[in-house]
Amino acid sequence: MTAFSLDPARTAWCAELRALAGERLLPLAQEGEPGHVNRPLVAELGRLGLLARLFTSDALDLCLMRESLAQTCTEAETALALQGLGAHPVHAYGTGAQRDRWLPGVHAGTTVAAFALSEPGAGSDAAALALRADKDGSGAWRLTGEKCWISNAPEADFYTVFARTTADAGARGVTAFLVPADRAGLTGTPLDMLSPHPIGALAFDAVPVAADDVLGEPDRGFGVAMNTLNRFRPSVGAFAVGMAQAALDATLAHTSRREAFGGPLKDLQAVAHQVAEMALRTEAARLMVYAAAAAYDEGAPDVPKRAAMAKLLATETAQYVVDAAVQLHGARALRRGHLLEHLYREVRAPRIYEGASEVQRAVIAKELYRPAGPAGTPPPGNAREHRPHSGAEGESEAP
Ligand SMILES: Cc1cc2nc3c(=O)[nH]c(=O)nc-3n(C[C@H](O)[C@H](O)[C@H](O)COP(=O)(O)OP(=O)(O)OC[C@H]3O[C@@H](n4cnc5c(N)ncnc54)[C@H](O)[C@@H]3O)c2cc1C
Repeated sequence: MTAFSLDPARTAWCAELRALAGERLLPLAQEGEPGHVNRPLVAELGRLGLLARLFTSDALDLCLMRESLAQTCTEAETALALQGLGAHPVHAYGTGAQRDRWLPGVHAGTTVAAFALSEPGAGSDAAALALRADKDGSGAWRLTGEKCWISNAPEADFYTVFARTTADAGARGVTAFLVPADRAGLTGTPLDMLSPHPIGALAFDAVPVAADDVLGEPDRGFGVAMNTLNRFRPSVGAFAVGMAQAALDATLAHTSRREAFGGPLKDLQAVAHQVAEMALRTEAARLMVYAAAAAYDEGAPDVPKRAAMAKLLATETAQYVVDAAVQLHGARALRRGHLLEHLYREVRAPRIYEGASEVQRAVIAKELYRPAGPAGTPPPGNAREHRPHSGAEGESEAP
């Protein structure tokens, strides 16, 4: 990729993904039951080789996958992303035994993963998590507490669970565990949400876990969570860009054929200029997402700022574009089952999860005021005194 455009091979791959999504994934998505894991859809993602690619792709290809799928089938996009979020900690931090046991099924789409960090009392402030891991002999713990808003719960086959192994230690006292769904004491409840994908709450009643279940090292689990979220952050923006593009495409088609006041809607300047604004903002968000992903792949020093900007701009833009598309479609867009009715429900949550928009602004501001290293430019004025609180003890930012 140059700074401004994708190379022809990547452009062709995106077109191929959109076609596959239309032919092989959308029909399965339409047969799924809202609020439940669509296992045939996840298995098809596996057969297409896309789940395995989640773990070998660079950040830009991950963004292209998510954008292309979202443009045609948001259910497939989300199922793919959730496998990535739930299983990335196993891929990146798991032992050989954990990887051998779980990853083949994740890649094939026969094993469903989930990422369980949020709790009723710890959302944006994830380091406040309270799910207790009490020592139960040497190298063993019992997990007691709750997780909530967990995508794929309670139907996932395993959960990456973040629990407090050291009291009062903030982000430094958290351990990541791989907890199979059939572990004694683990129960779950589905939550009926505006967002179409499955989400639930989990209750842990002295669930036994051992050293073999730890992902990474004890008390280092917050880094596992934040590194996973950092990897996926630009691609949440790509999901949003895909939805914005789908809304824009639908609007172009609709305003070209809908007649009112003696001609198509597109001949009304107010309509045409609104569509131009939608296209302008979508393209700006896309470029920012690609730039953030490319910076991640190059190991650039300003990745936190770029990723936060990309996620913030793209998710807010998608909300704007989908809302404008609804307006230009009129009543038909609000009918249950219309593409825009679906996108209207899908587009809201990404402004909250994996770092709410306000949290992204806090990240951007913190990076802007960060004292420069020896070779860098000094910060303006007395910025050192005004650095915003990170809430995550220097490891990274909230989910
Ligand atoms: C559809 C969906 C799927 C989800 N899936 C998962 C999942 O799979 N796994 C998981 O662990 N969690 C998941 N979550 C939970 C998600 O990560 C949390 O909702 C998110 O971290 C925000 O936490 P909260 O909802 O408790 O909001 P709170 O933390 O209570 O924040 C509420 C609002 O306060 C404001 N705010 C918060 N912090 C700041 C700040 N520092 N500066 C300024 N304003 C601030 C923002 O407006 C924010 O939206 C999901 C959520 C949704 C909606």
